[in-house]
Amino acid sequence: MTAPAPKPWIMGIAPYIPGRSTTDDGRKVAKLSSNENPLGTSPAGREAFTSAAGRLERYPDASATELREALAERHELDPARIIYGNGSDEVLHLAAGAFAGPGDEVIYVRYGFAVYEIATRRVGATPVIAPDKDYATDVDAILAAVTERTKVVFVANPNNPTGTYSTREEIARLHAGLREDILLVLDHAYAEYIEGDAEDGGMALAARASNVLVTRTFSKMYGLAAERIGWGYAAAPIIEAMHRIRLPFSITIAGTAAAIAALNDRAFVEHTREHNARWRAWFSEEVGKLGNAGLRAVPSQANFVLVLFEGKLTAEAAYKGLMNAGYIVRWLPGQGLPHGLRITIGTEDETRGVMAALRELAGA
Ligand SMILES: *Cc1c(COP(=O)(O)O)cnc(C)c1O
Repeated sequence: MTAPAPKPWIMGIAPYIPGRSTTDDGRKVAKLSSNENPLGTSPAGREAFTSAAGRLERYPDASATELREALAERHELDPARIIYGNGSDEVLHLAAGAFAGPGDEVIYVRYGFAVYEIATRRVGATPVIAPDKDYATDVDAILAAVTERTKVVFVANPNNPTGTYSTREEIARLHAGLREDILLVLDHAYAEYIEGDAEDGGMALAARASNVLVTRTFSKMYGLAAERIGWGYAAAPIIEAMHRIRLPFSITIAGTAAAIAALNDRAFVEHTREHNARWRAWFSEEVGKLGNAGLRAVPSQANFVLVLFEGKLTAEAAYKGLMNAGYIVRWLPGQGLPHGLRITIGTEDETRGVMAALRELAGA
């Protein structure tokens, strides 16, 4: 008997592994594995979500007019050039789907976001990995990886899982060094967490260049990961191509309502930003004190810190020890980081607690 054969490039995809929320023995403990907002969600967003319960029989507005107008107003953009999707993950898939295919190459960095590889392989394109510079994005390495087959370059800034940040100058240099027929996707999932809210100039590039797409999400800073609302901004022809392959109703009425309300709840965003900046600095400094035990915090501008284990205590042992102590973090052997743990900045209690457990494991 023969059976339907999946395309060979589909079978080349390693399935995405989401952050866990229970321990091996099924205990529900502090989840610091998916970079969610530890302060919850905007109260205004929650209320808007609830009030959408009266409209369940209706299809959502397929053109997401209200969401695009709210985003355009907040970020001073042209609403016609905004694309949206089921999380920014869908927008990343749309970018690969519209601009790459079999025979084409897609570049991303060595310790990059797992979705880039899936989005690339899904469309039959070939992933090309640019080496890092001590875990950070190396613009020269990306430019050196470009060939005549390159169609898309994905850069998360800040990057996940490293938390590293490329300056405005570096991003401008990257863009200037790319041919105009290569789409540069700047993934701004963590842009709101950058010190001083100083994004990398990507949005201005997307506004004026013909080959830059910036993607953003409501999943992190806005605390709406459950509702899957992401969006992107680029030149009209880029957006127009992506619309053709988008699912017609990929974002929900309740999620859209929550996103618009959350977007305008600046108090919640400010509170989250301050909380994260304070505890990210504290956590990184405390990890730094465990340098004798071989621990090192990669400098982060996101809502998580990548901790490297370069001494006697291994990342795997620390991962298991933290789980026993009630903290689920992200160990990433599948992403080339068997010696690293990505730890989300949690509440004050969670952050102090995970640090205390780390100290104990390190024998400090
Ligand atoms: C979390 C994350 C996203 C977005 O996720 P969605 O929930 O799909 O919007 C995108 N890029 C990076 C680098 C992320 O870490």
